[in-house]
Amino acid sequence: MMDEEIYRKYVRAGRIAADARNYGIKHIGAGVSYLEIAEMVEKRIKDAGAELAFPVNLSVNEVAAHFTPAHNDKLFFKKGDVVKLDVGAHVDGYIADTAATVEVESENYSALIDASREALMKVVDIVKPGMGLGEIGRIVSDTIESKGFKPIENLSGHSLQRYILHAGLSIPNVPDSTHEVLRKGQVVAIEPFASTGAGHVVSRGVSNIYRYVRMPLFRDVKTRVMAKKIKMRFNTLPFAERWCTSFIPDTKNGLRRMVVAGSIYGYPQLIDGAKGIVSQHEHTIIVTEDGCEVTT
Ligand code: MN
Ligand code: MN
Repeated sequence: MMDEEIYRKYVRAGRIAADARNYGIKHIGAGVSYLEIAEMVEKRIKDAGAELAFPVNLSVNEVAAHFTPAHNDKLFFKKGDVVKLDVGAHVDGYIADTAATVEVESENYSALIDASREALMKVVDIVKPGMGLGEIGRIVSDTIESKGFKPIENLSGHSLQRYILHAGLSIPNVPDSTHEVLRKGQVVAIEPFASTGAGHVVSRGVSNIYRYVRMPLFRDVKTRVMAKKIKMRFNTLPFAERWCTSFIPDTKNGLRRMVVAGSIYGYPQLIDGAKGIVSQHEHTIIVTEDGCEVTT
């Protein structure tokens, strides 16, 4: 298996991320601001003694993934919104990544939300060492299609390693010709997305989420100082514009300049190609001798 101490850190991160996810879902409602939920969930993780593996993502309706409010955001949830809350916590770099979907005060998309949840549960039930990644994709896709929806073909689950959110292995949501199999001791996030639209996502617009890439290529002193601070605070993990207001003046524009300098990467929002409504569920699992343990 894995080192006992590492295992305990994964389990602890998982428990904290799951609690924060449930707490956030419970508080999302019509008239509640995105900012309030994001900050409340992030505080919950830190108060529990873990750190943030990435900003709380609040992706609404046709936005499948990658959105967090900016520090001065004025967005509020509305009745009928389909909200994906995606949460990441880590303990000493050992990450838990988990997501759930809630529809705000209506039930027009219950079947869609059930489809991604059921696909996730089916995979978790039968995962074990030796299972082909392509087979996982087939289970996800069969489950979602049997409910009349489309899996999102260009979003996938992933392996996790210490301080690395996407560690190389992709867990597809559609049948795939890969011959890769799961191995005992691997930590992976399984995350089916179901859509009423195109079943693929396109990049559009600013997410307010960034990741450090390298020191800036030109010698502008201010940009270099900011890059150093970002590297020190967030290392290689994704961070939010909101988290930089204390040390980057005119934060949105400052970060935009650093993207242009090649020093940080700005994640785009990922939107269903036909603007369909999207649901997502995600758990982090540890592959065990004869199955898996869900940490989240
Ligand atoms: Mn996630
Ligand atoms: Mn993930």
